[in-house]
Parts: sequence; C-alpha cells; structure tokens
Amino acid sequence: MTMRTLAPRTVRVDLAGRGYDIAIGPGLIDRVGTLAAPLLAAPRVIVVSDETVEPLYGRRVAASFEKAGVKVGSVVVPAGESSKEFGAFGRLMNTLLDARPDRKTTLVALGGGVVGDLTGFAAAVLLRGVDFIQVPTTLLAQVDSSVGGKTGINTRHGKNLIGAFYQPRLVVADTDVLDTLPRRELLAGYAEVAKYGLIDDPAFWDWCEANGAAVLAGDAAKRSYAIEQSCRAKARIVAADERETTDLRALLNLGHTFGHALEAETGFGPDLLHGEAVGAGMTMAFDLSAKLGLCPAADARRVREHLGAVGLPVRLRSIGGSNRRNWDADKLIEHMRGDKKAEAGRLTFVLARGIGKTFVTRDIDEPAVRELLDAAIA
Ligand code: NAD
Ligand code: MG
Repeated sequence: MTMRTLAPRTVRVDLAGRGYDIAIGPGLIDRVGTLAAPLLAAPRVIVVSDETVEPLYGRRVAASFEKAGVKVGSVVVPAGESSKEFGAFGRLMNTLLDARPDRKTTLVALGGGVVGDLTGFAAAVLLRGVDFIQVPTTLLAQVDSSVGGKTGINTRHGKNLIGAFYQPRLVVADTDVLDTLPRRELLAGYAEVAKYGLIDDPAFWDWCEANGAAVLAGDAAKRSYAIEQSCRAKARIVAADERETTDLRALLNLGHTFGHALEAETGFGPDLLHGEAVGAGMTMAFDLSAKLGLCPAADARRVREHLGAVGLPVRLRSIGGSNRRNWDADKLIEHMRGDKKAEAGRLTFVLARGIGKTFVTRDIDEPAVRELLDAAIA
C-alpha cells in the first residue's frame, strides 16, 4: 500500500445538523470525487476555480469526479481579490445559471480564499441555496477561510460586507498542492497557523517554534499536522460560537486590528498580504500587551523572533515594498476605528497575558496604542 491510498486525517466540524468533515493529507486532489460522491444530492457538480489554479489542478479534480460517476461542469474566474467584486459576482451567477443547475447540483470551490468565499456565497444564494464543497489550495484557505462557514464578497464600502454564514458539506485539503504556491503566500498562511498557538494553545506554539521552518520547507507529515491542529482549533471555536455572537470567535482576530490598519494603509494591495499583516499585527498585539504590563516581555520577544525567523515581515520598516513607507500613527488609528470589529468607535483588541492566553478587550487607552505605534514607526 502506498501513502496515497492511506485514509486522510479527518477533522470533524460539529454543528447541529450541518456538521462536516475536513479531510487532510497528501494526494487528495485525485480523490475529491470519491470522497465527495456519497454526499452529493445528485451526481452533478460545477467546479469554480481561478485562472491560476484551474490549469494546475482542474483536470485532476474533474477526472476524480468522472471516475466516481459524477457529471462535471467548470467555471473559471480571474485570479485575485477582484473576483470578489459585486460585478464579478453577478457575472459568475449568470455563468452558473447558463449551465442550468438544479437544486441538487453541488458547487465545488477549487482555489484559495477568494474562490472559497465567492463560491460559498454563490452556493448560498444560487436557486436559494445549493450544496457546496471546499477544495482549498492555499495554506491560508486550508487553515482558515475554508473552515467556519463565512462566505462573502466585497463592495466599495469594504471587504466581506455582503455574505452569509453557509457551511460546506465537505472540505478536502491536499497538502501536496501547496508545493506550487508562491513562498510569500505560503508564509502568509503560516501566520494564521501560528495564530492558533498564540490564541490558546501554548504547546502548539512551542511545536511551531520547533517545526515551522520544516512546515514551510515542505515536510509533508508536519504540514498535515499543522493543518490538522489549525482546523481543530478553528472548528472548536466555530462550533462554540458559529455566528460570532460572543467574544470567543473574536479571539480568531488576534493581530487583525493592527493588521487591518496596515492593510488599509497599504491599500489592501500586493505590498502587504493579509497573512503578512496578521503576522505583524500579532507581534504588535503582544508588544502592546507587554507594554501594558499584561504579558511577560519574554513572550512578546518569542513571538517577534519566531515570526521574523521564518521570514514574515514583523517590522514596519520592512513593509511596503522597496519604497519605505512613511507610516503615520494617526492614520493607522483612524483605520482601526473604521474596522468592522470596532464597536461604537471603541477600538477592539485581542491582547495576551502570555503565549496561549489571549482575551478580547475594548478598554485600551488610545495613548498607549499611539505610543506603541510611534515606537514601531521610529
Ligand atoms: P487567493 O485566493 O487570492 O490565493 C492567492 C493566490 O494564490 C492567487 O493568485 C491564487 O490563484 C494562487 N493560488 C492558489 N492556490 C494555488 C496553488 N496551489 N498553487 C499556485 N498558486 C495558487 O488568496 P488567499 O490568501 O487564499 O485568500 C484570501 C481571501 O480569503 C480574501 O478574500 C479573504 O477575505 C478571504 N478570507 C476569508 C475567510 C473566511 O473565514 N471566509 C478567512 C480568511 C480570509
Ligand atoms: Mg485572517
């Protein structure tokens, strides 16, 4: 028996009546059809992918469905965030309807978080709701966006402001497809992996410090472990707070208030990927926690050192492309206020009492934040 035929690792997401499995492991891209077939309402799927991912993996996914006796259609959208725009979404819906789906047709999202968010939302509203399956192909999508049921698109008012909580029937995460992912995208996803350790799992953080470099270098077993632990962490939090009604799910936003400000200031563009912003943001959240005397300075140092050592940009100076940006604390604070996590203008932060000991707070004095930013900019 070869590795390829071993049962994948499985993480169950427990949601009353809508629970589903996440299958994780090498070689799964060729087994999507077999894994999905028993769950389909009818033997018909439409695979949605992007112009980068489709040529790499589209044929193999389609073949796996055909082998399982499932009829396959395909829609390809441009790669990148622009496919989550309102207009692009409208075009996708019409293209899907051109294929004459019925309520038993299942959509398959083959790609990163963009394709997953877009296809999930399309599934939520196509014919008032059809099933969908996630085949995430970026590390970020495998450990974050494909788990938890948040789907959505962007408008000129901001990202993900139109969407639905809509759970997939199955998630299939093939660790091999990460081999073709650009290094920067891989690192950006790794920031979200390490985040789960920092939130509430110090043992997993220790593991990341020891094994992060191997995960990034392509060690298959360690990749599977990192993805499995991440999915377990997110699944546990989502099962307890599916619709973000308590502060529990908000812990997943560790690093995201600072990160959002950095992303807003760099125009949500290629200068700073979301995961890179989260990496820098987590470093700042731990620095702020240490500055406020909440968290040992040594813990904040560990966060900065590990994320920096794997290659994430943890210093503001290193962010913003070759032109060193003139960061402005006032502007960054303004962006934090505009963040959808801010309630009634009060800044919301996830801070820490140590590694693996985070909490949500809305009681942080702005001068402390400003001082921290001024020091980081200097
Ligand atoms: P992405 O989907 O844009 O993928 C990044 C790039 O990598 C794209 O150019 C893509 O074509 C390419 N790519 C994907 N897989 C590849 C592979 N295996 N080999 C080579 N190239 C590959 O970006 P992302 O980082 O995966 O996702 C970002 C999106 O996810 C954002 O829109 C964000 O809002 C969303 N998101 C959603 C949630 C959620 O809970 N729903 C959580 C986090 C992020
Ligand atoms: Mg994130």
